[in-house]
Amino acid sequence: MKRSKQREAIIEALCSTTIHPTADWIYDEVRKKIPNISLGTIYRNLNLLSSENDIVKIGVIGEQCRYDGNIKPHNHFVCKRCNKVMDIDFEYDNSISEEADKLFDGDIEYHSLLFFGTCKDCLDN
Ligand SMILES: [Zn+2]
Ligand SMILES: [Zn+2]
Repeated sequence: MKRSKQREAIIEALCSTTIHPTADWIYDEVRKKIPNISLGTIYRNLNLLSSENDIVKIGVIGEQCRYDGNIKPHNHFVCKRCNKVMDIDFEYDNSISEEADKLFDGDIEYHSLLFFGTCKDCLDN
């Protein structure tokens, strides 16, 4: 019961934003509802949720891992200057994973493309 409440709060925090937050950001958000939750618990739940495909672990950008509440396969843009992570409207082509799966001994489920460059805000400043 307690555990599902934590998980729900984490998923809710993740789905409330499109910034692809860090564990620290999620921690601050979840603490508004569950003040006594620890950062360790947040990390443990994030790992669990991503291994069960309830959330997406995008990977380490800059120095911190970034997470996504949108589990529909999609691609991301990463700003090299400010480490912003944005969804990019680039067609998700599942055939890439199917091709890779043929050449690979394990089982490939999906892929995720990261595009790197400079975001508009950084270009304007
Ligand atoms: Zn930027
Ligand atoms: Zn995303």
